[in-house]
Amino acid sequence: MLEKALDPLVPYPGSTEVPWKSRCKKCEMVLDPGPTLHNIRGSQGGCGFCAERGIDPSKPGYLYLVVHDGHQALKWGIANLEQRLAQHLSQHWRLVARWNFDLTRDAWAFERQIKAWVRGQGIPKALAADQMKYRGHTETAYLSDMTLQLLSAYIESLTGRCPESPKPRG
Ligand SMILES: [Zn+2]
Repeated sequence: MLEKALDPLVPYPGSTEVPWKSRCKKCEMVLDPGPTLHNIRGSQGGCGFCAERGIDPSKPGYLYLVVHDGHQALKWGIANLEQRLAQHLSQHWRLVARWNFDLTRDAWAFERQIKAWVRGQGIPKALAADQMKYRGHTETAYLSDMTLQLLSAYIESLTGRCPESPKPRG
């Protein structure tokens, strides 16, 4: 468990086939049901959330804000590889702003707060899963529902700092 950065939250369930409730030490997500010891020993192992997103929350990363003129939509998200942003940019998303973090875990926490704030206003997702080649549709909104200026300002107040570059525009 510890080799895979998982903290057991309950005693060993007594079988390698029974899910073991645990907390991922990288993203701090509680895995309930957790992985079974059998799976952990296998090739995949570890936290499914971290694996699925292809990010390492314990490494430097960034929170980004991009816009798509064709869809008239904005998107926020996190990554710790430049490649991730490049994927979206290749699909005609434009970078509006980014905030760098020493730990992607901190960016992740902000990402969740942003989602709660946007959805809490009754603003729906702008895109469906099949419209995004590189995923991440759950962090989108139409510009008619949420402007770049408003979301940038919210993120600045949330993080307590201005974006690195480029500056928000428009
Ligand atoms: Zn994790």
